[in-house]
Amino acid sequence: MKYQEIREKVLEGAVKCLERELIRGTSGNVSMLVPDEQVVIITPTGIPYDKLTPADLPVVSLQGKLLEGNLKPSSETPMHTAVYRARPNVRAVVHTHSLFTLVFSALNRELPPMTPSSSPYAPVPVAPFALPGSEDLANAAVKALGQDRLAILLQNHGMLAACPTMERALAAAEYVEECAQVAYYTLLANNMNPLPAEAVKELRERALKGLAV
Ligand SMILES: [Zn+2]
Repeated sequence: MKYQEIREKVLEGAVKCLERELIRGTSGNVSMLVPDEQVVIITPTGIPYDKLTPADLPVVSLQGKLLEGNLKPSSETPMHTAVYRARPNVRAVVHTHSLFTLVFSALNRELPPMTPSSSPYAPVPVAPFALPGSEDLANAAVKALGQDRLAILLQNHGMLAACPTMERALAAAEYVEECAQVAYYTLLANNMNPLPAEAVKELRERALKGLAV
């Protein structure tokens, strides 16, 4: 994929997050790897996503150095680039502050698989708190993701999806939020009842084969 095509996908992803109320204002950030060149296209900081055109999106190196573009890359660039460096199979990263992932991240509680659609991502662990934009946060996120997780919570901050495609990362952001909503309400009702482990295993296998969950 050429830069232009990837820039369009990144911006589309950010606007979708806004439309689905997974992010508010200029919070959250979205990026994709350009695999042939090992560079990253990421949303800029401080500008509403619906006011951007694809050409506005900065291109940064895997070390976070600005290579192209007039706008300042997202303040969470260190976290995005650290994930791409650590996980060669990741092509898209979506970071949101969706409400119920914020609630669970502030509870500092691993999110269990509550729904079939969350089973490829849950249980979702919580990376310990570190200041937004810091290398410490980048390191904590990479550690929590390990080698195969597709989504994590960031303590008192939100969630991060790291997936092979933008479509998958957006789905992760949406289904983990839905799972957090269900978990929270069932927790309030004092009967949080996650999916059985066997069902999660089977659903993950189906998801890997590309069957609908
Ligand atoms: Zn954030």
